[in-house]
Amino acid sequence: MAQLLDTAHLWMPFTANRQFKAKPRLLASASGMYYTTDDGRRILDGTAGLWCVNAGHGHPKIVEAVQQQAAQMDFAPLFQIGHPKAFEAATALTGIAPDGMNRVFFCNDGSEGVDTALKIALAYHRMRGDAGRTRLIGRERAYHGVGFGGTAVGGIAGNRKQFGSGLTAVDHLRHPLNIEKNAYSRGLPLHGAEMADELEQRLLALHDPSTVAAVIVEPLQGSTGVILPPKGYLEKIRAICDRYGILLIFDEVITGFGRLGSPFAADFFKVKPDMIVCAKGLTNAAVPMGAVIVRQQIHDVFMDAAPADTIEFFHGYTYSGHPLAAAAAIATLAVHKEEQLFQRAADMAPYFEDAAHSLKGLPFVKDVRNLGLVAGIELEGIRGKPGARAYDLFNKAFWDKGLLTRTTADIVALSPPLIISKMQIDEMFGSIADILKTLK
Ligand code: PMP
Repeated sequence: MAQLLDTAHLWMPFTANRQFKAKPRLLASASGMYYTTDDGRRILDGTAGLWCVNAGHGHPKIVEAVQQQAAQMDFAPLFQIGHPKAFEAATALTGIAPDGMNRVFFCNDGSEGVDTALKIALAYHRMRGDAGRTRLIGRERAYHGVGFGGTAVGGIAGNRKQFGSGLTAVDHLRHPLNIEKNAYSRGLPLHGAEMADELEQRLLALHDPSTVAAVIVEPLQGSTGVILPPKGYLEKIRAICDRYGILLIFDEVITGFGRLGSPFAADFFKVKPDMIVCAKGLTNAAVPMGAVIVRQQIHDVFMDAAPADTIEFFHGYTYSGHPLAAAAAIATLAVHKEEQLFQRAADMAPYFEDAAHSLKGLPFVKDVRNLGLVAGIELEGIRGKPGARAYDLFNKAFWDKGLLTRTTADIVALSPPLIISKMQIDEMFGSIADILKTLK
């Protein structure tokens, strides 16, 4: 029970620790679409944990796979030695990746995936004799995890305040938000594709394009407030990267594994990057795992550049391809296929969209954005206290309505497991509507 909890020692991540410890919110168990709190209340999971439990909690096939693997072999290294499950997981993952993206590097989470992809980009150019390509370009308000590389290419002001600028050879494009005409867009916003031209302008005016190694974008910026790419924007970014020999990395840590109704956002947008970073839904979050999926041609450069008895990529993690994670990934990918969860998400998306937009006109609602099974509800801020109203909604949803939401500044995000039913969608947005009517 909460009152017996010893809160003296745990330093919680991305948390106002003192505020939390004054009134802890604790989850004790989970099944399907629901959590249960430590005091026995049922909580509808409106955010698939942290955008990750796409197949619902405690799926029996995933649980069984992890249990069996733990009993059979808890750990084996993947340096100069291997185990079959890591290979099987890589085959299963490339089986749903876009054509030609058929090599996988495993790590433990999204942050490591981003740093791995950035290092692959730098090494790729060097191995081709193009060592001058050292600059990396991201976007404002992008979240690419917490590694040094990801923090630098990410565009979060709080990071600059606390850690300084990190790596210096980075630049950031503006994010495509706050285009008034796009308010309350259903699905992809129509206006603003021309913001992608900023990439070419920067390349020509500020940087010699031959010094740029990679551009990294989240196809849909999720955790910083559900920022959608305007129609045509990603296509333009791809074309500009092609024109100047720059690699394009999609950070699909959130959009991977069905969130938009397709395996990856790359499929949804029909834009093929050079690398995809994924994590979260890969194992249904049962065991941490991340991965970078690369185009064959990038892998070939590494294989061709060095003699066969040397290490081609000087990088790896103790837990790369961890047997428990590999077993969870294999089981998760099988569940996605058997239960056709991506299609299910695509089929449910129009209903979800209607429900999200039913909030328009309620007190404090400034904008509603949605795509696939993601929605962002932007609330009017309280002057001088950014995020206070959204945080209040988050608390009320959790305590009064039994709903888990996620907030970033003044935006409430929803990204439920792909197994959500129409009734649960009604419950979710009905609860939010009720709360909005009581907010101050
Ligand atoms: N990239 C994106 C787009 C993310 O949303 C996240 C996590 N929310 C990360 C990277 C970092 O992933 P992790 O927390 O697993 O390191």
